[in-house]
Amino acid sequence: MAFDYDLFVIGGGSGGVRAARVASATGAKVALAEEYRMGGTCVIRGCVPKKLMVFASEFNEAMSDARAYGWDVPDGTFNWLEFRGKLHAELDRLEGVYRRLLDGSNVEIFDARATLKDAHTVTLSTGQTFTAKHILIAVGGRPSVPEMENAGLGITSNEIFLLDELPKSILIVGGGYIACEFAGILNGLGVEVTQYYRGEQILRGFDGEARGLIADQMKERGVDLHCGVNILSMEKQGDQICVKGTNGVEKLFDQVMFATGRSPNTQGLGLEEVGIKTGRKGEIVVDEYSQTNIPSVFAIGDVTDRVQLTPVAIREAMAFVETVFKGNPTAVDHELIPSAIFTQPEYGVVGLSEEDAAAKGPIEVYVASFKPMHHAFAGRSDRVLMKLIVCADTRKVLGCHIVADHAGEMIQMVGIAVKMGATKEDFDRTVAVHPTMAEELVTMKAPTRTA
Ligand code: NDP
Repeated sequence: MAFDYDLFVIGGGSGGVRAARVASATGAKVALAEEYRMGGTCVIRGCVPKKLMVFASEFNEAMSDARAYGWDVPDGTFNWLEFRGKLHAELDRLEGVYRRLLDGSNVEIFDARATLKDAHTVTLSTGQTFTAKHILIAVGGRPSVPEMENAGLGITSNEIFLLDELPKSILIVGGGYIACEFAGILNGLGVEVTQYYRGEQILRGFDGEARGLIADQMKERGVDLHCGVNILSMEKQGDQICVKGTNGVEKLFDQVMFATGRSPNTQGLGLEEVGIKTGRKGEIVVDEYSQTNIPSVFAIGDVTDRVQLTPVAIREAMAFVETVFKGNPTAVDHELIPSAIFTQPEYGVVGLSEEDAAAKGPIEVYVASFKPMHHAFAGRSDRVLMKLIVCADTRKVLGCHIVADHAGEMIQMVGIAVKMGATKEDFDRTVAVHPTMAEELVTMKAPTRTA
């Protein structure tokens, strides 16, 4: 049977765009449909604008540090609308880059919503229908908000980049990546931030010691963080929102932001009609080659709810093209993925937490926690954490946790060594770079504890 395309990609985010371009480079005839803006969550309403907001929010502290270092810096004020204008101009530029990359790769772009009609057919919101030998679903996810009365009064990370003015006060609900990152960002920009997290400590699943340090320092920097508290009810009161917490406290906020997780964008996509298996959260179930139970249909990225990170979606895209268009079946390696949480302080992590490693077998834990030179001189009290978890039997470094400025940059490098299977002794025979914070990673002699 002759198809209109060899590959039809649904979704123009990091994963979809990469798969379309690379597949097209193999000589395949490729089309891509995107219903909103090219670039997806990462570029339009995620990693990129978030990181620019992190940068913007750090100047307050930098200016105060500058004074401590002898500079005469007056108190500045932050102009949200000026920043927002530049932010959106940058996002427009990046969207253009993505579009040009696809055009330059001979991928046909449809600015339309696509749904599945059958195993080889997609229907567009324009009314057009196309057939394809392979269909790749890369439609990502969206913020999910708890089902409660008046939940619509709150915003999510989608709206935060579009606000006409910064609120004076905000309640952030949640204790995951997005909640903790935005608590730091908005606090740095001068917003009074309250954060409610239902569990006993933020950043569930990560290393306990790192979580504790981040929580303490978020509070020290001004975030009014309450663990073990959730939102009970909310209602409009004048221009504000009156929130009742499970702690019995009733408080007024200018805004409430839900950062309570993300759900796969699978609703109304035609999956049920075609018989594609989905999981409990609506995620598309795939095998290690990103293939669904319908052999012509594949799915990558957040819609599969494996590891919700841009570089992982890109890896899945590359593996998909290797498998389907290059005749080289390639499973995606989801082990030992380094990542960073852009909290303030920043957290870089690769491998196991102390708790998870200890549950698997005997370990040695090496910890250095200290006031770094830069902060100490500036009179800041914050400490940094450098932590290695080592397998007592194989001597391999099973996990590395860094809570410090630029932890994301550091963990990228440590990630290479850990992925290669470096042992504690490999770290030890690496000469320190002095004076840096990271030198502690290669100079920790005796274990702080064993487990
Ligand atoms: P997370 O899953 O990280 O966090 C969701 C938070 O919301 C958790 O604290 C969870 O609590 C809480 N929660 C869930 N449901 C409710 C509810 N009904 N009421 C109250 N609280 C609730 O999701 P995020 O939205 O923060 O981020 C989504 C994903 O995006 C992340 O997992 C990550 O993969 C990715 N991401 C990565 C970033 C990075 O790499 N720097 C930055 C931002 C996002 P509990 O712990 O109790 O379940």
